[in-house]
Amino acid sequence: MIGLTRRKVLAASALTALCGIARPVLGTQSASVPWRNWSGGVMANPAGRFVPSSEAELIEFLESTSGSIRPVGSGHSFTPLVPTDGHIIVIDQLAGMLDHDPIARRATFGAGIRLGDMGVLLESIGQGMFNLPDIDRQTLAGATATATHGTGIGFTCLSGYVTSLRLITPSGKLIDVSADENQDLFDAARVSLGALGVITRMTLQNRDNYRLKSKSWIQPIEEVLEGFDESAAKYRHFEMFPLTHSDYAITLAIDETSERINNPPPSPEEDASFGEAMRGWTQVPPRERLPLVNALAEQIGDSEAVDVSYKILSNIRNNRFNEMEYAVPVEAGAECLREILRTIIEKEVDVVFPLEYRYVSRDDTWLSMSSGDEDHAAISIHRTADEDYRPYFNLIEPIFWKYGGRPHWGKVHSLGARELSRLYPRFKDFQEIREILDPAGRMLNDHLRKVFLT
Ligand SMILES: Cc1cc2nc3c(=O)[nH]c(=O)nc-3n(C[C@H](O)[C@H](O)[C@H](O)COP(=O)(O)OP(=O)(O)OC[C@H]3O[C@@H](n4cnc5c(N)ncnc54)[C@H](O)[C@@H]3O)c2cc1C
Repeated sequence: MIGLTRRKVLAASALTALCGIARPVLGTQSASVPWRNWSGGVMANPAGRFVPSSEAELIEFLESTSGSIRPVGSGHSFTPLVPTDGHIIVIDQLAGMLDHDPIARRATFGAGIRLGDMGVLLESIGQGMFNLPDIDRQTLAGATATATHGTGIGFTCLSGYVTSLRLITPSGKLIDVSADENQDLFDAARVSLGALGVITRMTLQNRDNYRLKSKSWIQPIEEVLEGFDESAAKYRHFEMFPLTHSDYAITLAIDETSERINNPPPSPEEDASFGEAMRGWTQVPPRERLPLVNALAEQIGDSEAVDVSYKILSNIRNNRFNEMEYAVPVEAGAECLREILRTIIEKEVDVVFPLEYRYVSRDDTWLSMSSGDEDHAAISIHRTADEDYRPYFNLIEPIFWKYGGRPHWGKVHSLGARELSRLYPRFKDFQEIREILDPAGRMLNDHLRKVFLT
């Protein structure tokens, strides 16, 4: 048995670390600095960056200017949501915890805060978020804008836990929305792709602070799929990472615990042994890879960790990649995944990056991928950032369409307004609100024009 673990396989699947993110220049307004997203696949040359230090400063900027604007979070979306030739609005300085309610277990944050900074702040007041995505580098505003989610049939995307928010419209009007105040706008703005205005603060429903225990193991994909619904109901969080050109998946289950914290970082020996294993794996042509990957998979050991919730739910992903993810109704999930894995083998796609398969609960926002009355299975495919992802993603995307999939707003997809309006019953309502709040299309870029107008 070599020292392979889930963490090592997933971290090292992306072989090269490529691009950095251009840092915003602080100050009220700065001249143009090229911008690119986390993966390096999306670039822009904005006229400038505007970094407000208060809501009043942001309002003044919006009232006194008329050019294109796009709010940015931490640039972790794979789709060109942010590029503009006008101004990028960076709300890094509108962060931190602003208020909290110990009885209702709610807390209000400046929306520019990173998810990873919220855990410690919430822990200090005895609260914890219900769920988190795979990483925690996103901002609260950026993550909710694309309906970012974690795994767990009992949990909605992050936007489902927002109880109120503050929106500054493109013309500089301040609007507070909640389920009781401007409800339509609340349901639209919780997942808004940054198309309705700039969100400056959000209140979240949390729970008591808690500890989690994660367990991961290797198991045949078919076996996991057959028992997936049962496992999803049994564990608080359950998901799998099917290995390509293989019969196996790395399986992850997470539950609440009162056990002692035990979450050691992976050892350097583990790194070395995995690097060696991967080199052998990638040198073999895809059609000959199955027995080799199966043999390697069988050597992946179980692993366990116990820690406070936010340290277990999110991971560190240092190696850059691009990703496509669609949410398909839960009943269609297993068949959709099987067809994707079969296609990768039949078409001899040279990809070593595992897929990800997880369940997300339905919610009542207008544009979350799981909005409506069905739970969804989120299925992701990945390509390392130095590879051209298009041939692989173009091959797989029609399979998602066949199963009624809705694309993750922050991950690569090719759909426009015509297709999207068929997938979302409230799409037209969202388009109408967008038109009212931004009649001049100040917040539109080429990507959003395709998504909302054509
Ligand atoms: C390594 C990695 C792992 C990921 N894991 C997951 C995962 O587990 N689950 C999942 O669902 N997604 C995941 N994602 C996708 C990611 O969570 C989303 O793309 C998210 O939107 C990125 O947040 P961000 O802060 O980087 O925002 P950006 O990518 O910078 O922006 C996203 C959107 O938010 C808007 N926005 C930003 N700030 C504001 C504001 N103040 N007001 C209004 N709109 C605003 C932008 O205009 C844009 O439309 C992952 C991405 C990466 C790179």
